[in-house]
Amino acid sequence: MINFSNYKVRGPGIEITDKVMLAKLNSYVDGVKSIGIKLLPIEGFYRFDSISALGVCSYSRTGNSVIIGLNNLLFKDEQSLKKTFLHELCHAEIYAKHDGHGRIWKSVAYKVSRKFNVDITRTTNVKTASSVLSSAITKAREAKAVYRITCETCGETSTRSRASNVTKYPHRYKCTICNTSTLRVDRV
Ligand SMILES: [Zn+2]
Ligand SMILES: [Zn+2]
Repeated sequence: MINFSNYKVRGPGIEITDKVMLAKLNSYVDGVKSIGIKLLPIEGFYRFDSISALGVCSYSRTGNSVIIGLNNLLFKDEQSLKKTFLHELCHAEIYAKHDGHGRIWKSVAYKVSRKFNVDITRTTNVKTASSVLSSAITKAREAKAVYRITCETCGETSTRSRASNVTKYPHRYKCTICNTSTLRVDRV
Protein backbone atom coordinates (compact mmCIF):
# COMPACT_ATOMS: atom_id res chain seq x y z
CA MET A 1 0.00 0.00 0.00
CA ILE A 2 1.25 3.46 -0.90
CA ASN A 3 1.60 5.84 2.01
CA PHE A 4 0.69 8.97 0.05
CA SER A 5 1.67 11.26 2.92
CA ASN A 6 5.32 10.40 2.21
CA TYR A 7 5.05 12.05 -1.19
CA LYS A 8 4.03 15.32 -2.74
CA VAL A 9 1.54 14.00 -5.26
CA ARG A 10 -0.44 15.77 -7.91
CA GLY A 11 -4.08 15.72 -6.87
CA PRO A 12 -5.66 12.82 -5.05
CA GLY A 13 -4.28 9.56 -6.37
CA ILE A 14 -5.89 6.13 -6.38
CA GLU A 15 -3.48 3.26 -6.00
CA ILE A 16 -3.47 0.74 -8.84
CA THR A 17 -4.32 -2.67 -7.38
CA ASP A 18 -5.65 -4.42 -10.48
CA LYS A 19 -3.53 -7.57 -10.82
CA VAL A 20 -3.44 -7.61 -14.61
CA MET A 21 -2.36 -3.96 -14.78
CA LEU A 22 0.23 -4.45 -12.02
CA ALA A 23 1.68 -7.44 -13.87
CA LYS A 24 1.99 -5.36 -17.02
CA LEU A 25 3.64 -2.41 -15.25
CA ASN A 26 6.02 -4.72 -13.39
CA SER A 27 6.98 -6.42 -16.65
CA TYR A 28 8.10 -3.00 -17.94
CA VAL A 29 10.06 -2.46 -14.72
CA ASP A 30 11.75 -5.85 -15.17
CA GLY A 31 12.54 -5.02 -18.80
CA VAL A 32 14.23 -1.78 -17.75
CA LYS A 33 16.24 -3.56 -15.03
CA SER A 34 17.23 -6.30 -17.51
CA ILE A 35 19.37 -3.82 -19.44
CA GLY A 36 21.33 -2.89 -16.33
CA ILE A 37 19.44 0.24 -15.32
CA LYS A 38 19.30 0.69 -11.55
CA LEU A 39 16.06 2.07 -10.18
CA LEU A 40 15.13 3.46 -6.79
CA PRO A 41 12.65 1.20 -4.95
CA ILE A 42 9.14 1.78 -6.30
CA GLU A 43 6.52 1.88 -3.56
CA GLY A 44 3.58 1.66 -5.93
CA PHE A 45 1.62 2.98 -8.87
CA TYR A 46 -1.43 5.20 -8.86
CA ARG A 47 -3.93 6.82 -11.22
CA PHE A 48 -4.91 10.46 -11.20
CA ASP A 49 -7.15 12.88 -13.06
CA SER A 50 -5.58 15.76 -14.94
CA ILE A 51 -6.12 17.57 -18.19
CA SER A 52 -2.44 18.49 -18.54
CA ALA A 53 0.05 16.03 -17.02
CA LEU A 54 0.05 12.47 -18.32
CA GLY A 55 2.49 10.90 -15.89
CA VAL A 56 4.48 11.79 -12.83
CA CYS A 57 7.34 10.21 -10.89
CA SER A 58 7.27 11.45 -7.29
CA TYR A 59 10.21 11.04 -4.95
CA SER A 60 9.54 10.35 -1.30
CA ARG A 61 10.38 13.12 1.15
CA THR A 62 13.53 11.20 2.07
CA GLY A 63 14.36 10.71 -1.63
CA ASN A 64 14.85 6.96 -1.18
CA SER A 65 11.84 5.68 -3.10
CA VAL A 66 9.35 6.72 -5.73
CA ILE A 67 5.73 6.29 -6.69
CA ILE A 68 4.60 6.59 -10.29
CA GLY A 69 1.31 8.19 -11.26
CA LEU A 70 -0.52 7.65 -14.55
CA ASN A 71 -3.30 9.83 -15.90
CA ASN A 72 -6.63 7.98 -16.00
CA LEU A 73 -6.95 8.87 -19.68
CA LEU A 74 -3.95 6.66 -20.51
CA PHE A 75 -5.88 3.51 -19.66
CA LYS A 76 -7.77 3.94 -22.92
CA ASP A 77 -4.60 3.79 -25.00
CA GLU A 78 -2.11 0.96 -24.49
CA GLN A 79 0.78 2.50 -26.46
CA SER A 80 0.55 5.91 -24.75
CA LEU A 81 0.35 4.23 -21.35
CA LYS A 82 3.49 2.23 -22.13
CA LYS A 83 5.42 5.27 -23.37
CA THR A 84 4.37 7.49 -20.46
CA PHE A 85 5.14 4.80 -17.91
CA LEU A 86 8.60 4.10 -19.37
CA HIS A 87 9.31 7.84 -19.49
CA GLU A 88 8.45 8.17 -15.79
CA LEU A 89 10.47 5.06 -14.90
CA CYS A 90 13.59 6.77 -16.26
CA HIS A 91 13.07 9.47 -13.62
CA ALA A 92 13.39 6.68 -11.02
CA GLU A 93 16.91 5.78 -12.17
CA ILE A 94 19.18 6.23 -9.16
CA TYR A 95 21.35 8.96 -10.70
CA ALA A 96 18.57 10.74 -12.61
CA LYS A 97 16.91 11.97 -9.42
CA HIS A 98 17.84 15.63 -9.65
CA ASP A 99 18.44 15.68 -13.38
CA GLY A 100 15.01 16.58 -14.77
CA HIS A 101 15.26 15.82 -18.49
CA GLY A 102 18.99 16.43 -18.45
CA ARG A 103 21.97 14.41 -19.71
CA ILE A 104 21.71 11.51 -17.27
CA TRP A 105 17.98 11.14 -17.74
CA LYS A 106 18.37 11.30 -21.53
CA SER A 107 21.00 8.59 -21.71
CA VAL A 108 18.73 6.33 -19.62
CA ALA A 109 15.77 7.23 -21.83
CA TYR A 110 17.72 6.37 -25.02
CA LYS A 111 18.59 2.92 -23.68
CA VAL A 112 15.00 2.28 -22.61
CA SER A 113 13.66 3.55 -25.96
CA ARG A 114 15.93 1.11 -27.80
CA LYS A 115 14.97 -1.81 -25.56
CA PHE A 116 11.22 -1.26 -26.01
CA ASN A 117 11.35 0.09 -29.57
CA VAL A 118 9.56 3.34 -28.68
CA ASP A 119 10.65 6.96 -28.44
CA ILE A 120 10.23 8.21 -24.89
CA THR A 121 12.90 10.91 -25.02
CA ARG A 122 10.34 13.57 -25.79
CA THR A 123 7.63 14.28 -23.26
CA THR A 124 4.19 13.33 -24.47
CA ASN A 125 1.70 16.12 -24.32
CA VAL A 126 -1.62 16.84 -25.93
CA LYS A 127 0.06 17.86 -29.20
CA THR A 128 2.22 14.75 -29.58
CA ALA A 129 -0.31 12.29 -28.13
CA SER A 130 -1.89 9.61 -30.27
CA SER A 131 -5.27 10.43 -31.77
CA VAL A 132 -7.07 8.15 -29.28
CA LEU A 133 -5.44 9.92 -26.37
CA SER A 134 -5.75 13.46 -27.70
CA SER A 135 -9.47 13.00 -28.33
CA ALA A 136 -9.84 11.64 -24.77
CA ILE A 137 -7.99 14.72 -23.46
CA THR A 138 -10.16 17.04 -25.54
CA LYS A 139 -13.29 15.38 -24.17
CA ALA A 140 -12.03 15.64 -20.58
CA ARG A 141 -11.25 19.33 -21.13
CA GLU A 142 -14.67 19.98 -22.57
CA ALA A 143 -16.28 18.30 -19.57
CA LYS A 144 -14.45 20.80 -17.36
CA ALA A 145 -14.98 23.75 -19.66
CA VAL A 146 -16.25 26.98 -18.18
CA TYR A 147 -15.57 29.19 -21.21
CA ARG A 148 -15.95 28.52 -24.91
CA ILE A 149 -13.97 30.70 -27.30
CA THR A 150 -15.39 30.98 -30.81
CA CYS A 151 -13.81 32.69 -33.80
CA GLU A 152 -16.59 34.61 -35.48
CA THR A 153 -14.69 34.56 -38.79
CA CYS A 154 -13.79 30.90 -39.28
CA GLY A 155 -15.87 29.19 -36.59
CA GLU A 156 -12.91 27.55 -34.77
CA THR A 157 -13.79 26.82 -31.12
CA SER A 158 -11.80 25.91 -28.04
CA THR A 159 -12.57 25.71 -24.33
CA ARG A 160 -10.97 26.88 -21.10
CA SER A 161 -11.57 25.56 -17.61
CA ARG A 162 -10.67 28.86 -15.91
CA ALA A 163 -10.50 32.57 -16.56
CA SER A 164 -7.36 33.86 -18.25
CA ASN A 165 -6.29 36.88 -20.29
CA VAL A 166 -7.87 35.47 -23.42
CA THR A 167 -11.23 34.93 -21.70
CA LYS A 168 -11.07 38.43 -20.20
CA TYR A 169 -9.72 40.33 -23.21
CA PRO A 170 -10.55 38.24 -26.29
CA HIS A 171 -10.25 41.24 -28.64
CA ARG A 172 -6.51 41.39 -27.86
CA TYR A 173 -5.98 37.91 -29.27
CA LYS A 174 -5.97 36.43 -32.75
CA CYS A 175 -7.52 33.20 -33.95
CA THR A 176 -4.78 30.54 -34.29
CA ILE A 177 -6.42 29.27 -37.48
CA CYS A 178 -7.37 32.37 -39.51
CA ASN A 179 -5.39 35.06 -37.67
CA THR A 180 -8.28 37.53 -37.29
CA SER A 181 -9.17 39.28 -34.02
CA THR A 182 -12.80 38.25 -33.90
CA LEU A 183 -12.85 35.96 -30.89
CA ARG A 184 -16.01 35.72 -28.81
CA VAL A 185 -16.16 34.24 -25.29
CA ASP A 186 -19.23 32.52 -23.90
CA ARG A 187 -19.72 30.91 -20.53
CA VAL A 188 -20.58 27.25 -21.04
ZN1 LIG B 1 9.72 13.57 -17.52
ZN1 LIG C 1 -10.65 32.07 -37.09
